[in-house]
Amino acid sequence: MTDLLWLWILLGVVVVGGGAALLVPRSHRRPPEVEAHDESTTIAPAPAEPSAGPAPGAPPAAEPGVAAPEAPALETPEPVAGRLVRLRDRLARSGSPLGARLLSVLSRDHLTEDDWDELEETLLLADIGAGPAEELLDALRTRVRVLGVRDPKSVRDLLREELLKVVDPSLDRALATTGPVGDDGTRLPAVVLVVGVNGTGKTTTVGKLARVLVAEDRSVVLGAADTFRAAAADQLQTWGARVGVETVRSDRDGADPAAVAFDAVRRGRTDGTDVVLVDTAGRLQNKAGLMDELGKITRVITREAPLSEVLLVLDATTGQNGLNQARVFGEVAGVTGIVLTKLDGTARGGIVVAVQRELGVPVKLVGLGEGPDDLAPFDPEQFVDGLLG
Ligand code: GDP
Repeated sequence: MTDLLWLWILLGVVVVGGGAALLVPRSHRRPPEVEAHDESTTIAPAPAEPSAGPAPGAPPAAEPGVAAPEAPALETPEPVAGRLVRLRDRLARSGSPLGARLLSVLSRDHLTEDDWDELEETLLLADIGAGPAEELLDALRTRVRVLGVRDPKSVRDLLREELLKVVDPSLDRALATTGPVGDDGTRLPAVVLVVGVNGTGKTTTVGKLARVLVAEDRSVVLGAADTFRAAAADQLQTWGARVGVETVRSDRDGADPAAVAFDAVRRGRTDGTDVVLVDTAGRLQNKAGLMDELGKITRVITREAPLSEVLLVLDATTGQNGLNQARVFGEVAGVTGIVLTKLDGTARGGIVVAVQRELGVPVKLVGLGEGPDDLAPFDPEQFVDGLLG
């Protein structure tokens, strides 16, 4: 008899539980594409970390069952305005071989063919690309001929003007961080998808970008859709925690990145967040695999909100290899802007020009160091001044 009673109770729980699951409104479920995987994402709030705590990349210290230490003081990111000026010394140091060598050759009294060859070689070594190098040299030849005698200042002005032309100040480099208004009249978050090969500085860039946005009083949610690299979600979460930004992540390595991206955007939408930054894995497997993965992430995200930006992160030190990556991602991901990292460690500043030409989209941000605020909006004039020292 007691057994029968238990059986009835058990049956009741199953039926009511199942019914409750069916009551979850459709709009609160993930699309079928990602639902099948059924892994749950979690919202990771700021783990306790003092501002002088572990560097980004260190896993969060939170331990289950251990009482949380006092809330950490949040860091105040540096103001964004003037960052490139602040970092110009760094740019000048790394870019000086380009600017200084060009200036020294151009200042010679009579420019011989050997001198022009030397100029070309210098430009090519700086990764500016053959087409833009030729354009620049043609323009310089014509103007030098017309100018005749050249004092150092006029040579510098001349070079500055022509370099600026190939960097192209007319491109719109503003980051789209205001989302559109949805059908229901509320503003959707701006969704920024960050793509690129692993090791280029993607996660670091997402972290730095979150700080840029926080410095501008924008609310941000991070999506750790790089579920391939075990430490990536921890690394991202640590970056966010330092400035009070939440990270949506999966607790399981190898989880479906599209599911995490979807949950992050949904979270941003529910909370009325200004910007959702989604970090992705950058396995440069075959093009079809990459296309599948990024295609699925994009499709799933856009059911919640359209993509405002697809930023491709490229490592400035990788030269031709970086350009090949740019080509592949450009084809599969609909890139709208480029982030060039590690410009502090290379004399190949010309890559800015080459990659813009390759993809036909502007460099919008540059990374100039490993520090948390070493990311700056790209400004052609300041960049060229940096190159010229
Ligand atoms: P991911 O695999 O693409 O996510 O790359 P990570 O964000 O983990 O970065 C790889 C390495 O590049 C880390 O050691 C970063 O500190 C470093 N890094 C990222 N951006 C820059 C930069 O602008 N300058 C320098 N010098 N290092 C950078």
